[in-house]
Parts: sequence; structure tokens; C-alpha cells
Amino acid sequence: MSAIETVFANARNATLWAGPLIPGFQAAETCMPIISPIDNQTIGQLVAGSDRDVNAAVIAARNCFESGEWSGLPPAERKRILLVWVDLMAKHADELAALDCVDAGKPITECLNTDIPATIETFQWYAEAVDKCFGRISPTGSDALGLITKEAIGVVGAVLPWNFPAQMYAWKVAPALAAGNSVIVKPAELTSLSAYLLTQLAHQAGVPAGALTLVTGTGEATGEPLGRHPDVDMVSFTGSTEVGRLFLKYSAESNLKEIVLECGGKSPQIIFEDANIEKLIPHVLAAAYWNMGENCSCGGRLLVQESVKTAVLAGLKEGLKHWKTGLPTDTDTMIGPMVEEAHFLKVRQFLDDTLAAGATVVHGGKVHSELGSGWYIEPTIFDGVTPEMRLFQEEVFGPIMAITTFNTEEEAIQLANQSQYGLASSLYTSCLHRAQRVARRIKAGTVSINGFSEGDITAPFGGYKHSGFGGRDKGMEAFDQYTQTKVIWFVNN
Ligand code: NAD
Repeated sequence: MSAIETVFANARNATLWAGPLIPGFQAAETCMPIISPIDNQTIGQLVAGSDRDVNAAVIAARNCFESGEWSGLPPAERKRILLVWVDLMAKHADELAALDCVDAGKPITECLNTDIPATIETFQWYAEAVDKCFGRISPTGSDALGLITKEAIGVVGAVLPWNFPAQMYAWKVAPALAAGNSVIVKPAELTSLSAYLLTQLAHQAGVPAGALTLVTGTGEATGEPLGRHPDVDMVSFTGSTEVGRLFLKYSAESNLKEIVLECGGKSPQIIFEDANIEKLIPHVLAAAYWNMGENCSCGGRLLVQESVKTAVLAGLKEGLKHWKTGLPTDTDTMIGPMVEEAHFLKVRQFLDDTLAAGATVVHGGKVHSELGSGWYIEPTIFDGVTPEMRLFQEEVFGPIMAITTFNTEEEAIQLANQSQYGLASSLYTSCLHRAQRVARRIKAGTVSINGFSEGDITAPFGGYKHSGFGGRDKGMEAFDQYTQTKVIWFVNN
């Protein structure tokens, strides 16, 4: 049986399991069911952790950090161990892909071709980068020598969302651990399986058990105690803006730990009449529907110049013929289920509310109740969406695109920025001057020209406004959030 078949078989037999990975700690008996969004079946058990787990993880992490067992290793030695881990991930790639598929409902082909390769690449990139970071020397006179150094922060909590379970784990854990911190991972309770396997593989590779711990359970039972713990030095959070606010409160009410927030978005895609419509269609569709729209950078707000709307719409409908809604275990599926019933109901409500608000469905709009769990929503396009509508303002996290038209460049910029969020954006034009003129005025952390992209691992990713602040994931910038600056000042007297 292949690794994928084994995971799928175990999921059918409800034998998957995940729980805390903390040295010397016994998991509590209390478990919660792991339910697959594919068919609403229980596929295993997740240990429902508590503040007891968090406290044990913090003690282990702190002891490890202060002992220097990981933090004190030369960066080249941390690199060596991380690269052993990378090799193990590559050996288990199919299994990791299958776990994200059954846990999150992500299409297996995406997991195999995008999520897991990107996860492995992230670890490799930070492992290889960490022994190439240098400090600086202050420009003093000969009476002093100032060394400006970066050092690990200490005990870092990584709180993760459910939409890219393995990849979000990598974006946080790879730079934080490479920099020498002790990291406590708190995966989303809906999707903890790949985080559990990744952490087990880390320990096999030689990452000390206290340098990388895992707590499982709900946000209230484990996320909050982590956010409030007096001996946690920072929390790097990816998730909703609403919960991001709570982490600021936890910090303010405890030890003023550093908080980095990577939150939601409502990203615009602007199509100008001088754009190459044929070429942009696959990008626009990927931006809106990739990962079922359960994507922080989802480009669900399509702003189209009135003169090309008919042509764009025709292209989108043609392109969507290739977007099959189906079981994520089928290799040709591009749209799987919503991650859980509550989320499915929330997304479905957007369909009803947008119709009631007066917009028109020009493609899709159907729920596939005959498929598996029934939480499958086909890619949908609404035309005639205006800025007051919920669909224009709120993050859907589902496969629904809103079309709004404009006539002038100035109007397009105003519409693009008419949002509390500022994570990502795309603009399509064949005019170089317009591209850079507009890009400079869009209030978002990433502006892609003639395509949809979050940039690769070399480029920092993060948001403006309610999409977050405090640091960036990816790129060398990610090291900044997991290190602090120290000056060592030699006085020559
Ligand atoms: P969420 O905010 O519900 O949960 C995120 C994490 O916080 C989970 O681990 C959860 O258990 C924990 N949590 C929930 N309630 C908590 C509480 N009261 N106290 C402490 N912790 C708590 O987010 P989600 O639904 O898992 O993920 C979707 C959101 O994540 C979307 O808004 C999406 O845009 C965002 N996201 C952002 C990025 C980015 O890079 N900016 C990437 C992926 C997802």
C-alpha cells in the first residue's frame, strides 16, 4: 500500500491520532473527534489540550533555550540538523499530503504539487540561510567598538490557521527554529495531523524535544493560555483578525510579549482595458478559487473596467469549465469541500445575502449536497456588487468572486483601497507606467502585476491595516520577527 493509500485507509478506519509532543509529559485522556470535511466522518482523535499542556511545553521550551542545547549551537550545526529533517519530510511527502487532504479537504493534487513541496522548500531555505546572516559594526571612532548583533528571542508560540496546515507550520517554525528559538506549535484544532507528523520527524532528525514542542486543542483551551503565559517571549499568529485582536489583549494583560499578526484579507484584482485578457484569466481564477477561496490572499474582489467586462466574463466562464468541484481525493478535483459545517454555512449565507442585496449570479451559485459531506460550493461569480455589500467588504473564505466595474484609473484605486484589509492585490495592464503608478497607491503588502502571486520564499509576505503587523513571514525579513537586536559596546580606555 502506498503512503497515500495508507493514510486514506486509516482515515476510513478512524485510526488517525494527534496529541501533544512535550518531553516527559503524559497526554490527557480527553479527546475530540477529528472529522474529515470530505464526508463528515470521524477519522481519528485529537487530544484536547489545556493550560496544563501549555505550561509543560513552556517549561520544556524555556529549559531547552537556557541550556543552549539548541539556541547555543553554531548556526551551521542547526542547519545540518534542519537539513536532515528536510530529507525526512521528502521521504514522507506523500503521507503529509494525504494528511492535509483528509484533514482540511484540500485537493490531493494541490497538496502533492504545491503545499508539501513548498513546506519542504521553506525549511531548506531557512536552514541554508541561517549560517549566512552577519551582524554589523557600528561606525565609531577608535575609542570604541560597537557590535550590532541579532539573537534569538527565546520561547516562541506559533499559532496556526487551518487553511494551509503544513505550509503555515513551515512559514513560522522554519525561521523561528533556525534562528535558535524554542518553538511551541499550536496548530488549528481542525487540522493538526500534518503538524504532528512534521514535529515527530523533527525529533527524529535531531531537533531537541524541548526546542520544538506541540500542543493540540481548541483556541480557548490552548491558544489563550499560550498568549497569556508569562514565560512566553513572543507569539507569531496567523488567523482571523478577530482572534488576532485577542492576542494583543492577552499580551497587554500578561507580560507584553511580542505579537506578530498575519490576519485576513479581501484582496482586489484590478483589470484595466489595456490588459491581455486571454492571459489574465487563469491568474484571476487562481486568485479567487485556489484552495476553494480558503486563502488569506484570495482575490475575490474583481474590479473590471466597464469597457472590457463582457470579454472578461466570457473568459472567466470558459476558464471555469476546467475547475471541477469534487471529492479532494480525486486527482482532477480543483474545488473540494469547505473545511467544516459551520464554515460551510457561513459561506453559503454569503450566497443568500448577496442575492438579497441585489447582485446577480452570473456563474455557479450551487451547493453540491450530493457530494460527500455536502459542504461543497461550486465556484461562483456575482456581478453588480457595490461597495456597501457584505461581499465587497467581508472576508468570505470561500469560492465566491464579486465583480464591480469602474471607468477611470482613479476610481479603480479608490475601490481597491475601500477595505479594512490590505494583504494582497493584483493588477492587470499592458502599460508599464500605469502598473507602477497604481501599484504605488495600493495599500497592500503585496501587489502582483499581470498575475496572482504571494511571491516565492525569497519575498516577505504580510499585510497592511487589519491584515496584520509586527513582522513578515517568508524572506530574510522573517528572521527579523524571531530575533532581537543587541549592541555590545567595547570602550577602549
Ligand atoms: P482563527 O483565527 O479562527 O484561528 C487561528 C488560530 O487561533 C487557531 O489555531 C485557533 O485554535 C486559535 N484560536 C481561536 N480562537 C482563539 C482564542 N480565543 N484564543 C487563542 N487562540 C485562538 O483562524 P482560522 O479560521 O483558523 O484561519 C482562517 C483565517 O486565517 C482567515 O482570516 C485567513 O485570512 C487567515 N490567514 C492569514 C494568513 C496570512 O498570512 N495573513 C494566512 C493564512 C490564513
